[in-house]
Amino acid sequence: MRARLSDRIAAQRARREQNQRTRVRRTCLRRDGVRCEVVGVDGARRWLLNFCSNDYLGLSQHPQVLAALHAAASAGGTASHLVCGHAAEHAVLEQALCDWQQAPRALLFSSGYAANLAVLQALLGQGDVCVQDRRNHASLIDGARLAGCTLKRYPHGDADGAARQLGAHPHGAAVLATDAVFSMDGDIAPLRELAAVACTQDALLYVDDAHGAGVLGPDGCGSVAAAGLGVDQVPLRLVTFGKALGGVGAAVIGTDALVEHLLQTARAAIYTTAMPPAQAAATAAALAVVQSAEGDALRARLQENIARFRSGAARLGLPLLPSVTAIQPLPVGEDGAALALSRALESCGYWVGAIRPPTVPEGGARLRITLSASHADDQIDGLLAALAQAPEALTPRPRTGI
Ligand SMILES: *Cc1c(COP(=O)(O)O)cnc(C)c1O
Repeated sequence: MRARLSDRIAAQRARREQNQRTRVRRTCLRRDGVRCEVVGVDGARRWLLNFCSNDYLGLSQHPQVLAALHAAASAGGTASHLVCGHAAEHAVLEQALCDWQQAPRALLFSSGYAANLAVLQALLGQGDVCVQDRRNHASLIDGARLAGCTLKRYPHGDADGAARQLGAHPHGAAVLATDAVFSMDGDIAPLRELAAVACTQDALLYVDDAHGAGVLGPDGCGSVAAAGLGVDQVPLRLVTFGKALGGVGAAVIGTDALVEHLLQTARAAIYTTAMPPAQAAATAAALAVVQSAEGDALRARLQENIARFRSGAARLGLPLLPSVTAIQPLPVGEDGAALALSRALESCGYWVGAIRPPTVPEGGARLRITLSASHADDQIDGLLAALAQAPEALTPRPRTGI
């Protein structure tokens, strides 16, 4: 007998509700720097200080970025890039990305998610292997599944584990794919070791730098440059525009041969409408800020804020994960405790997301606190004071997987 979809959906919903795994969206009515007017779960509007966005440099509201967006104003992309959607703004942005990343070619995508699907599907197929860090972003996992290759996952940050898995699959082509900065942990992949492994195992190293681009390395050029690597060791990398660059979209950057292959074959780029030119112009403006003296000042300010938060947390005995980036997770363990903590912070005026499985491993629920160059000292101190009031913050109960 055919399975009934409606029964299955109802059962899954009941299980989610029982396990406190139902997710809700919060509507943000207005933004003013890190202050957001938000509609609460109770329907009431209140102003909260945002400690969960990925706008690490505050560029989503930067006057030059907004001016570029308005100057290029156009509602749509009109067609795919290969038909007639590739505008001057897109071409300018691709060239600016190449100059910034010191790589020969760049190709735009509507999102980082689409780019990761596209890259792995374009490079790999049956008989090939994709070896990935266990904590990689969902889009990399999905890309390998879509490609139809063998997907192997190694323990978090373990270059030797990557080498073993590549060694166990000596036939067929191989891609070693990793997040550069892990989105839920904030730590940085051992890129130099992984590059050495990729070299000895004859695998292509693909680095997803969604959270490093704009904030790490010289000129905010990202994790690859910060590790002293270039296109020779990392022939393809992903930069996304939705995090530190304050916009939306992504680019895959790398060698001429690989990027040309993506242009010709990447289904998630070919069969979709180009991003609006205004969005490309806004991202180019954000890139200009990132590479300027102001960009250096914003990164320095972000580092000061990270240091202030971490030292304050250490004084309070908060068990933060060992992260040097803007992502500063506070492990809580149980889903219910993480939710309670997030709600307690909201009642004090702070917006911090509770991240629960399956986004993180079972027993690994946490607050994902993110810092921005736009936070003021007293706002960070206020968040620390609110955390100190919340008993859940000080008594983590990790069960597994941390
Ligand atoms: C956010 C993110 C993506 C997806 O990028 P979008 O542009 O938001 O689709 C991919 N990889 C990592 C590591 C991310 O954090």
